[in-house]
This record gives sequence, structure tokens and C-alpha cells, in this order.
Amino acid sequence: MRYLSTRGGMAPQPFTDVLLEGLAPDGGLAVPESIPQISAKQLESWRDLSYADLAFEVLQHFLTDIPADDLRTLTHAAYRPDVFGSAVIVPLKPLAGGMSLLGLSEGPTLAFKDMAMQLLGHLFEYTLSRRNSTLNILGATSGDTGSAAEYAMRGKKGVSVFMLSPQGRMSAFQRAQMYSLQDENIHNIAVQGVFDDCQDIVKAVSGDLSFKIEHRIGAVNSINWARIAAQVVYYFHGWRIATQPSNGGELPQVSFAVPSGNFGNILAGHFARSMGLPIRRLVLATNENNVLEEFFRTGIYRPRASAETHQTSSPSMDISKASNFERFVYDLMDRDAAKVKALWDQLATEGSFDLSLHKPEFETRFGFVSGASTHADRLATIRQVKAETGLVIDPHTADGVKVARPFVESGIPMLVLETALPIKFGETIEEALGELAPRPPAFEGIEALPQRVQILDADVQTIKDFIVKHGAA
Ligand SMILES: *Cc1c(COP(=O)(O)O)cnc(C)c1O
Repeated sequence: MRYLSTRGGMAPQPFTDVLLEGLAPDGGLAVPESIPQISAKQLESWRDLSYADLAFEVLQHFLTDIPADDLRTLTHAAYRPDVFGSAVIVPLKPLAGGMSLLGLSEGPTLAFKDMAMQLLGHLFEYTLSRRNSTLNILGATSGDTGSAAEYAMRGKKGVSVFMLSPQGRMSAFQRAQMYSLQDENIHNIAVQGVFDDCQDIVKAVSGDLSFKIEHRIGAVNSINWARIAAQVVYYFHGWRIATQPSNGGELPQVSFAVPSGNFGNILAGHFARSMGLPIRRLVLATNENNVLEEFFRTGIYRPRASAETHQTSSPSMDISKASNFERFVYDLMDRDAAKVKALWDQLATEGSFDLSLHKPEFETRFGFVSGASTHADRLATIRQVKAETGLVIDPHTADGVKVARPFVESGIPMLVLETALPIKFGETIEEALGELAPRPPAFEGIEALPQRVQILDADVQTIKDFIVKHGAA
């Protein structure tokens, strides 16, 4: 399997090359040159595999330049019961009204980003050591992504992480999660500024090509193809744990509801469905930042300016543009890169594009439907789920439950992806329930642990100097 750019300007590349790259040289995103097809028989034969073996079966179609024995070792190193808290790795948690949660947040940082990032840590270490190379990962975070990256890369050979966060803007719990890591290859940098300052610095440093090459600056942002590939696995897993064997009859269907921001999570569902997994609907849920909900409702894609982006109580979905969306449009355009390039050229000049002519295909051909949720919806949904089941859900997951509800059909399980555990967003839980969010035992008292963080000015040169001094040799 080789990879092309959505905009057509990249020679075909093997997986391990796109693993370490960000955007394609033409500004597009890497996509597999074809979509592997999984037969009904194969699907049924995967029911009893461990999660790590299922991951191997799915990923061997995409990561073809990694020898099979090595890939199996890597998936077993990543998806371990001691890392994810149970042998099933991703549990199913029944809700009322035909819905269940797919428990993607049992990993070390209590959010679904661990599912991909834990594998990425092993893939980076493996690939860098074979190339005799090193990498300095630079990122900006206001929460989930940064901590998932740090926990995945801690102690990995050949990799250092420099994670910028806005000083004083994260919750005490999030700070404790990141800053308490004592590993020498993890560098927390609290920038004296806001999140946009952090992001601007990352852009400036990675935009300095000679610095980037000399100091081997890399990223693990949401457009990384390996993260999407790793996420495809849990759609297959969700299907197998929510359905009964078909015994040669028609395969049972499921629907998924996905709290969405950068379109990475649900894009993996789109790939699983394209590979032959019987997914009836992919329900895309947004919060008040409804760029994507608007697209699937109207066919018009209109990214917002950062000043137009609302700060909400499901902050990991507060996005102004959906960086992975281009990969879906590529498939919508029947994989015609020239059309995709024309659309993104239009986006650059006019700020939006109109695909309303394709609207009928969104649901009938691709299974997509969408809905948006508000702060009041989140609070009401958190209360309702608690009253019905005793479970406390996080605000992002609540957006998923709220938007999924009208799309539930009898006989078709609706799996809402649980994208974080509630302890990460304790303030909103207290507002909804008047009580503290449940805290997993391993996280008792983490706020009191010693913290390792550098406070630096919001200045590009200062950050560069720090990387030069502390980066992987
Ligand atoms: C990242 C994140 C999302 C959004 O996922 P995308 O892949 O960006 O669509 C939703 N919820 C939580 C808790 C997240 O951390």
C-alpha cells in the first residue's frame, strides 16, 4: 500500500515515510492509494481475537512496509491490558434507549486520543531506530492531544517531545497529568501567553525549513495518517462487541455517533465503512462550533476565523476548521485530486465552497448525518444519563449522546464514542450534577505530585534555543 496526496502533487510513498511527515509537499493530506476490502467471512472470523490481534489484522492492510512479525509485536506492545485497564481494552457500556458507550478513554490520559497515540509511540521508536535517526516533536496543546502525545512518547528512544501550553490556562488536573511526568525526553513548556500564541510559535518554528531539517522537528497532530489508521481498528471492535454472529446470514449493522472537532475520529469510521464494515450511520456531533454540522446539513463548508470560534464546555471540539475533512472530500469527489485542489484553492480565496449538489450522497452513499449540541444540552444530557444508568459521562460524550438520540433505530445498536472520562472536565460535571466527577483510583492526589515544567516567554527564538539545548541528539 502506498500513499498519495489529496491534491495530487506527491509521488506515491510507503507508510513509514508518511508516518514521519506532516502535510504533503503540495499542502494536501496523505491518503492510501486504494481502500482494502474486508469480506463478511473475515469480519466474522475476527470476533474472538484480542484487541492487539484485531489491530494487527486491520493495520497490516495499511502498514505494508512493516514486516508482519514486527507489526504484531508493535500492536501487542501498544494495546496491553495493564495500559488500558482491562483485557477487552475498549469496553461497551450500555445506556438507555438503544444506545451504548464505546469506552475509548481507558488509556493513560483518559481520552480517546490514547488509542492512536499509544501505537504511534511504538511506531516512531521502531521506525527511527531502523533509520538510525531521531525526532524532536513540537506541539501546542490546551489539553488532550498534548498529554496523550507525552504519555505515548515518554521513555521512547530517539524521540523528544516539546509541548507548549498556555501558562495558567489549563485545569489543575490537566496540568498535573502533563507536568508530573519526570521522563527526560518530555519537555513541558508553559508559554506566557494564550493558546494561539503557542500555536503561532509552533507554526513559526516548523515553518523555518532549515531549522526544521537541522533539528529534525516533527509533529503528531491530528492529520497524521497513522493516527487515523489506528482509529479504524476500534470501529471494527465496536461492531464485533455490539452484535451477534450472523452464522452465514446477513451481517448485523451498527451505527456510531462521534463527538467531532478536527474530523479525525469520524474519518476513521468512514474508512472502516468503506472497507466493508456494516455501519449504517455515522452520526457527526458538534458543539456550538458547528462548521461540520453545517456542512452535512447544507453542503456548504465555511471554516470560521479564530475570533468566531466559541469557547465551550466541550473544549476539545472548539475548532474553526476541520483539518481532516479534506480526506473525506477526496472520497466524495471520487478520489479526483484535481477537484480537491480546486476546492481548497477556492477556500483560500473565497473562504468557503459549496458542495450542495452532492448533498443526497452524504447519507445514502456515505451514511453521514449530523447534529449540534449546546451547553444547556450537555448539562441536561449528563443529568439524564446519570439518572437513567448511574454513569457519569464527560461533556464531549454528552454532545454525542444528545445528537445520536433522534437517529436511534430499533434493532440497530447506536454506539456513542466515549471520547474522554468526566474527571478531565470536572467543572462542567459539578455544574450539571452538583457533585465531583468520579476519579479513577490511579489518579488520586496527582495534583500534589512534583511537577516538571519550564516557563518561557512567548518568543520564537527562546523556544528554538530551548530545543537546540535539550533536543534529541
Ligand atoms: C480530540 C477530541 C475530540 C474531537 O476529535 P476529532 O478527531 O478532532 O474530531 C472530541 N472529544 C475529545 C474529548 C477530544 O479530546
